[in-house]
This record gives sequence, structure tokens and C-alpha cells, in this order.
Amino acid sequence: MNRKTFLKTLALLPAAGAAMKLNELNKLTEPFGNTDKMPVLFLGHGSPMNAIEENTFVQGFRKIGSEITKPKAILCVSAHWETQGTHVTAMAAPRTIHDFGGFPKALYEVQYPASGSPEVARETKDLIKKTDVGLDENWGLDHGTWSVVKHLYPDADVPVLQLSLDRYQTPQYHYELAREIAALRTRGVLIIGSGNMVHNLRMVAWDKLNEEDYGYDWALEAREKMKNYILNDNHQELINFKSQGQAFNLAIPTPEHYLPLLYTLALKGEKEQVTLFNDKAVGGSLTMTSLKIDKA
Ligand code: ZN
Repeated sequence: MNRKTFLKTLALLPAAGAAMKLNELNKLTEPFGNTDKMPVLFLGHGSPMNAIEENTFVQGFRKIGSEITKPKAILCVSAHWETQGTHVTAMAAPRTIHDFGGFPKALYEVQYPASGSPEVARETKDLIKKTDVGLDENWGLDHGTWSVVKHLYPDADVPVLQLSLDRYQTPQYHYELAREIAALRTRGVLIIGSGNMVHNLRMVAWDKLNEEDYGYDWALEAREKMKNYILNDNHQELINFKSQGQAFNLAIPTPEHYLPLLYTLALKGEKEQVTLFNDKAVGGSLTMTSLKIDKA
């Protein structure tokens, strides 16, 4: 029964029955009823090739996917969608965007045909008071989203939306905005930040890409500091990443791959725990360190 039919039926009910039915109506007016609190993830996505390669990172994504209750929808904050203002994808069928150059043909042939969810888009917009969130009909799923989500849900049977990064806002603003969508967690929505904590593409040691856990000294220093702050709930230091010295400056030359981490951390409840995985450096200047936040 859809909502319209339900309302018509309700109108025909005698008053005595109506009170009881109102509870059901309340459930229907929310796209999704309340659920157990979903975890929150930050996924280090790294090279787009992770979408089609078999490696330990992909295995890490798969394992996390298998540990989580299947969500009713996924909302992903990807490093690869920066906009003016904040937007949420609101189309019913988002396209797979191949937003990279110079990769093998097989990567361009990947399609991730998950549906969207105009209802969750509307709900996200309604929750955010900090700004007037735009309902987007043009973007879709960029590789920051599909290259990792496809390993969690290979059948593309969970609706996926993206929330953009407003490139003109401060880290503090992003953190505060993220807190406003916390209620989605109890409505069956898995929120994912997708980026890389340490991400300096100009300094990649291309000849060391196959060397396990190879990181420059500054990258390893930044990784350790970040992990310490994360595990001690010291979010303010992470928000103030620009005042953390040279290792952080090299690790975060531009903020877009780092900011999704702040979205994930902002959603952590006081008594929740953080589990790290895929905690490896790649090519000297990247880390794949990922995390899951859920109840202790
Ligand atoms: Zn990226």
C-alpha cells in the first residue's frame, strides 16, 4: 500500500481505530522507520584500479561489508565531488562516472548500477540546517564512491547517494555539518567518507608501488599522529590539520581527500569504538588507513 492509498484508507476509518493507525502513519511519513544505529565508515580508496584489482585492500573492504547489517541506503561523501554549496544526489538512477584519465579500458567499462534514493536525499536536505542543500540531478556516482562500495555490495542492491564537499568552507564547518546528519544512522543509512588520510599524488614513488607498506618518513609520521588523534577522540586537532606542522602539510597538500575523514569522525557517539583496517602506506605518499565506528 503506498502512502496515498494509506491516507485514503485512514480517512475511511472510524475515529477509534484512527489513533492506533496514526503510529503507522508516522512510520510511513519517514522514508525509513527507525533501525539499529548503523556504523559509520571512512574508506581509503587509493588508486581507481582497486575497483578491478584483487589485493589486501579490496579484501579489507569485503570483510567490512560482510560485518555490517545490510543498510537501506548508503550516503557517501567522496573526495571527488567538490562544489559550491552542499549538494546531495537526488536522482533515482545515478550514472557511473569515470572521473579519471589514463587507465586501462576495463576500468572504464565498470558500471555500478545501484539505484539512488530521492527520499533519502530529501531527508538529508531536511536534516541539514547549516545551509540550504541542493538536490542534484546531474552528478551520479564518482569513483571515490563506486570503486569501494562495489566491494562492500557487489550486487549493487543497496541505493547509493553522494553528499558533496563545499570547497569554500572551513574544516570546522564540514565537521559541524556532518553532525547534522547523525539521525540517518538510525534510519538504516550507512554513511561513508571516502578519501585518503595521507594523499600527495605529486610525490608518489612510482617505482615503489608494489612494495608492501612503503611510506616516506613524513607520511608515516602523519599517519601515526592521525591515528593517535582518532583513537583518543581528539577531533579538534584533526580539524586543525593546517597547524600540525610539516608532516601534515605534506600529507594534506589539498584538503579534499582528508575532509571525508572529518565527516566520519563527526558522527562518532561518545561510547562508540573505532576499528582501524587497511592501515598501510602505498607508494610513499599515500595511506589506505580506513576505519569503522560502531557501538563498543
Ligand atoms: Zn581519490
